[in-house]
Amino acid sequence: MRTFKSLLITLLVSFTSANAADPSTSFTRADLSAANSLRERALSDATSWQLVESLTTEVGARPAGSAGDRAAVAWAEREMRRLGLANVRTQEVMVPQWIRGEAELSVISPAPQSMPTIALGGSIGTTSEGLEAEAVMVKDIAALTALPEGAVKGRIVYFSNRMERTRDGTGYGRAVPVRSQGPGEAAAKGAIGVVIRSISTSNQRLPHTGTTRYKPEAPRIPALAISNPDADALERLFAGGKPVRLRMKSTSRELPDVRSANVIGEVPGTDKAAEIVILGAHLDSWDPGVGAIDNASGVAIMMNAARLIGQLPVKPRRTIRVVLFANEEFGTSGSKAYVAQPQDQLDRHVLGFEADFGAGPVWRLTSRVNPEQLPAVDQIHRAMKPFKLARGDNEARGGADLDGLAKLGMPLLSPDLDGTDYFDVHHSANDTLLMVDARALQQSTAAFAVSVWLGAQYGGDWERVATVKPPRR
Ligand SMILES: [Zn+2]
Repeated sequence: MRTFKSLLITLLVSFTSANAADPSTSFTRADLSAANSLRERALSDATSWQLVESLTTEVGARPAGSAGDRAAVAWAEREMRRLGLANVRTQEVMVPQWIRGEAELSVISPAPQSMPTIALGGSIGTTSEGLEAEAVMVKDIAALTALPEGAVKGRIVYFSNRMERTRDGTGYGRAVPVRSQGPGEAAAKGAIGVVIRSISTSNQRLPHTGTTRYKPEAPRIPALAISNPDADALERLFAGGKPVRLRMKSTSRELPDVRSANVIGEVPGTDKAAEIVILGAHLDSWDPGVGAIDNASGVAIMMNAARLIGQLPVKPRRTIRVVLFANEEFGTSGSKAYVAQPQDQLDRHVLGFEADFGAGPVWRLTSRVNPEQLPAVDQIHRAMKPFKLARGDNEARGGADLDGLAKLGMPLLSPDLDGTDYFDVHHSANDTLLMVDARALQQSTAAFAVSVWLGAQYGGDWERVATVKPPRR
C-alpha cells in the first residue's frame, strides 16, 4: 500500500512538473523535451532526402504552367497524404506561361566566337534572323543611368557587374537589380538588346536565368545571360578597345495563362487550433536544372518538419500549415492568390517560416517579431543550443512567398540556411540532386522542425509586427 502510494505521488509529481511552465521560459518542460526528441529523430531521418530525390527525379523541372508544374502539384498532394498530413488540398492559381525556347549569342567582332547563353525569364524573343549591334558595356544600372542621352540607342547593353559571395544572400540582393530591371532600363534608353553577366558565383560555363520585369512604358527587348568565364572573356575584348559587335538570337515567347495550384497540408492544432503557423516553400522551379536546391530542398524541409511534428505523441497547440506555393519564380502567383483570402482568414496566420534558400545547414536564427516576443525567441534559440546557431537580429525579411503575409504584420521566425555556395548552382543547369548535401538537409530539417514546434507551443500570443521590410529576393 505504502509502495503504491509513493508511486502515485511520484507519478503525480512528474506529471505536474512535465506539464508546468518552466518559470524561466514560455515553454513547458514537455514541449522542450519533445523539441529534443524531434531534433534527434530528424538528424537520423532520410525522408527529406527521399522527397528531394523523388521530386527531382520523377517530376524534374517544373516552371510555371509547364507539364512539370502540373506533375509537381499531383506529386505534392500524393506525398503530403503519404506523409500523414491532414486536410490536404489545392488552391487553384492562374499562372503565366513563358516558353524559354532556344538562345544563341555570338561575338561577331573583334574575335568571332559563340558563348553559351540563356534567356532571362520573361524575355521576349528576337526575330528569326536575330539581332546584331555594337555593344556598350556598363557595370550596373547606376552606370547606365549616368550615360549621356542616346549613348545606347540602337545598341546592345552588356551589364558587367559580378555578384559577391555571401552567406546570407545579401550579395545576390545587391547584384540582382541588373537582371530584374536592367533590360527595362536599357530599353527605356533606346537599347535593342541586353546581355548580362549571370547573377551567379559559379565559375562553371553555365549561365544563370531568373525573372526580368520590363517597364510598362518602354519597349520590351530581348535579354540574355552569359556565364562568369564568358563574361570575363567578353570584358577582355572590350578592354582591347576595338568595337565589340554581338549577335543575339532567341525563340522565347509567351502563351496564355494556365491553371496551377498551391498545395496545402496541415498538422491540426489543439487548444489554439484556430491560430496558424505557416510553413512556406515554392513548388515551381526554373528549367535549366531540376530545381533540387531551388526549391525541392525547401519543399522537403517543410513537408518533413510537419510530418515529424505530426508523429509526436503530443499534438501541437497551434495548427501547422504547409503551403507549397505555385509560381514563385515568375511572379509569385501562388503567394498573391493566397493573400487574396478574406481578412479574417489571413488574421489567423500568427507566425511564418519560409524555406527558399537551398538545403542548408541552418547557421543562424533570425526573427521579425513584436518586441514583446523577443524573450520567447531567445528561449527558442537557447532550446536549439545543440545546433550552435548564431542569434540573428529582429530584421528577418523572410522570402518572397510570405512577403504578403509579413506585410500584414505576421511575425516571422527564420532559421537561416547557409547560402555561401547557393549561387554556384541556383537557376542554372547545375541545380541537380548531386548539389544537395544530405547531412546539411537533415540538420536543416531538424532546425526547422524544432523551431516550428516551439513556435506552435509558445505559451503567450504572437502579436502583430508594426514595421515591414521588403523581401531580400
Ligand atoms: Zn527559390
